[in-house]
Amino acid sequence: RVRRTYEVDSGTEVQNDNTIKVEEKPLKSRYQPEVTTKKSRYNPNPIISQSEKTNDSKRSKFLHTNRLESTGYTLQDETVGQKQRHDILKGKFPTQQAVKDDKRTRQQIWEEQQLENAVVKEETDQIHVANSKEYDYVFDTDTMIGFTSDNDDILPEEGEDSDAAGSDKYLLKQLENEKARLLSIKESRKLLPVYQYRDELLKSIKDNQVMIIVGETGSGKTTQLPQYLIEDGYTQEGKFQIAVTQPRRVAATSVAKRVSDEMEVILGQEVGYTIRFEDKTTPNKTILKYMTDGMLLREFLSDPMLSKYSCIMIDEAHERTLATDILVGLLKDILPQRKDLKVLISSATMNAKKFSEFFNDCPIFNVPGRRYPVDIHYTLQPEANYIQAAITTIFQIHTTQPLSGDILVFLTGQEEIEKTRDNLEEIAGRLGSQIPQLMITPIYANLPQEQQSRIFQKTPPNCRKIVLATNIAETSLTIDGIKYVIDPGYVKENSYVPSTNMTQLLTVPCSKASVDQRAGRAGRVGPGKCFRLFTKWSFENELELMPKPEILRTNLSHTILLLLSLGVKDLLSFPLLDKPSIQALAKSLENLYILGALNSKGTITQLGEMMCEFPCEPEFAKVLYSSATNGECNGVLDECLTVVSMLHETTSIFIGPKKEASSRIVSEVSSDHALYLEIYNQWAKSNYSRTWCQDHKVQYKTLLRVRNIRNQLSRCSKKLGLVTQNETGRKNLPVSTDLVNNRMVKAFITGFPMNVVQLGTTGYRTVGKTNGGLDVSIHPSSIVFQNYKEKAHKPCKYVLYQQLMLTSKEFIRDCLPITHDEWPLEMVPHFFK
Ligand code: ADP
Ligand code: MG
Repeated sequence: RVRRTYEVDSGTEVQNDNTIKVEEKPLKSRYQPEVTTKKSRYNPNPIISQSEKTNDSKRSKFLHTNRLESTGYTLQDETVGQKQRHDILKGKFPTQQAVKDDKRTRQQIWEEQQLENAVVKEETDQIHVANSKEYDYVFDTDTMIGFTSDNDDILPEEGEDSDAAGSDKYLLKQLENEKARLLSIKESRKLLPVYQYRDELLKSIKDNQVMIIVGETGSGKTTQLPQYLIEDGYTQEGKFQIAVTQPRRVAATSVAKRVSDEMEVILGQEVGYTIRFEDKTTPNKTILKYMTDGMLLREFLSDPMLSKYSCIMIDEAHERTLATDILVGLLKDILPQRKDLKVLISSATMNAKKFSEFFNDCPIFNVPGRRYPVDIHYTLQPEANYIQAAITTIFQIHTTQPLSGDILVFLTGQEEIEKTRDNLEEIAGRLGSQIPQLMITPIYANLPQEQQSRIFQKTPPNCRKIVLATNIAETSLTIDGIKYVIDPGYVKENSYVPSTNMTQLLTVPCSKASVDQRAGRAGRVGPGKCFRLFTKWSFENELELMPKPEILRTNLSHTILLLLSLGVKDLLSFPLLDKPSIQALAKSLENLYILGALNSKGTITQLGEMMCEFPCEPEFAKVLYSSATNGECNGVLDECLTVVSMLHETTSIFIGPKKEASSRIVSEVSSDHALYLEIYNQWAKSNYSRTWCQDHKVQYKTLLRVRNIRNQLSRCSKKLGLVTQNETGRKNLPVSTDLVNNRMVKAFITGFPMNVVQLGTTGYRTVGKTNGGLDVSIHPSSIVFQNYKEKAHKPCKYVLYQQLMLTSKEFIRDCLPITHDEWPLEMVPHFFK
């Protein structure tokens, strides 16, 4: 049994607001009795671990920053030393009463902390290691509470693969595995579970127009099945194509790369991929195309019968993305007319039956997979800071478990992953040669492609690979060699509330089905272990059975516009696995009407059709359209193209804090939009130079992507005649930054009227008949925040935002102040009246 601990010596002394300096003392080890009371993972009652109750008041690392004190960890009287009490009195810690009154849930506490992380970039979150002045970072397996090990929770064993670790048979198997890995790619293809079923699968596909395929992750569905189809003649020597959809870009690109290797062709020729803003295929040559589900959806616009395809595989259908759900509806619709088209739906077990019923009880083909047993460990009490908990667990595994056996950690997004990586690297750096080497490999959607492939690289000897992944590694990517999974049990999810018309990206607990999938990743090459950073009680009582399909928690405007443009008239009878509420549908139609994509009768307008043509959200398309054609604001298409393109990549523009980079670029700027414009223009002026980016702390690769997006949007604008119309407007426009900026603001109002907030007595609030009245705050990372707070600019009555983020407050990001109070009403009268 592995125990997790932060052993920190105390005798605390306040160093500054954030760090508590700890004097070095010999460390004692203590045994932590298990806490038996069942505590909710989201228990608003702060919980104190046994270690914090000991007389020498050793306190966990979690209690060592003021930040965490302020986010709800309780300080019980006996745990607080004289000095600390003094600090509390001085206001360094919350009072007992404050703690008692604190009714926040663990979720809120965590979110607040995440927010602080985003805002406060100071080194408050560091873990200090041996010999550091502050406190020790020690791995001591005899101390503290840890994980439960629950033998009942061993995942189902299958066949002879379930041999116990350590037995001869197991070692032999390991050896075999090793040998297998050394075999050529061609040979290893034959070792995949689907290979045994090749002929059976092909026969079943021949006999059925639609088939559901279910199989363990890593059994070869994504990489092998399409190749079998090619071998079986489904592409008729290049006459037809096979499309395989993926919910995520990373999966589409990395699988395409793998398959092109297996088929020994150049990526982009016979095998290619299409993701938004990037098409790596060759017309008349590509026969197998991996693509995001959203891209196939768009293909319906130009080719409603998908006539160039002989076979469509909807992969990872159990993820139930909005695009996948719509795709299966559209496919069901065209199947009677496309008798020769084969549809394969690949799904994890959880949804197979539902899909089968949807397609008139089509057959389910089950590929028995191999999976070794996985021990599940739970924490004995809820963890307030799962990142810290994950880091400790990583080092604990690393220092106590024999090498060979990589670790996979599920985090929620890029920021979190990068932060964890920095933390790990720092600790590893400090520990130096005391521990075996770590190979830290992140994987998330925005990660540059050349770095993505690192997760598949073989771990060098005397080294352990740590994969920090989003839930992309849950089922869509198979990473060999993972033996340990660390699962905080969270996922980032869109959530849309029709009544307020707000979409928020929230970090929420994931479903039972998800955490079980995640655990399964540890048992692919041999018996594994999964460490869940939540309690068993929480698993049993708090987690939803299944994730909620995206169609039930998202704004449907874009999809509805697409369906209308495809000629779907009756939205209510369109075949769907789960129907969205009438309220959500109505709200979406209303949004489209406000944008001018629909007329008052609910039919799609010419503008609506045009919006569909753009490979970006209709709101952005509207901005571009207005900037070229609206008499009030035309002539600024070029600027709007730049800003819109930049807004697609805001998460990865800067190296380091945005504030620092932006001050290098421009001394004063009125909005985030203007900042993005300035960055791109300066970069373009430098002849798109890499050095300029380095000097100004901007990511070169990101700007290259922005340039690519801009080119595509620009081509589309040209095709639709917007460029010509823009030139007419431009001619009458004197060259003045202010004027251009004003016009840009107006163009953005026409695209995002729903995102305008109004200044009231309590700060900014959302406006609109139904969705008004929500208090929002400008995110501290915004230029506008700095202007208002630090430079004391007078706040504008209206501000337009691009992103609403929920943490402890509703924060708006990427803000554009509307300098004239009358503009909203002027530009979108039917909304602001
Ligand atoms: P499934 O779709 O059934 O989950 P895949 O077809 O994705 O399985 O993977 C089959 C096998 O191919 C995996 O077990 C893995 O060994 C190998 N594989 C898949 N993708 C890659 C990759 N990008 N690099 C190296 N090996 C890969
Ligand atoms: Mg797959």
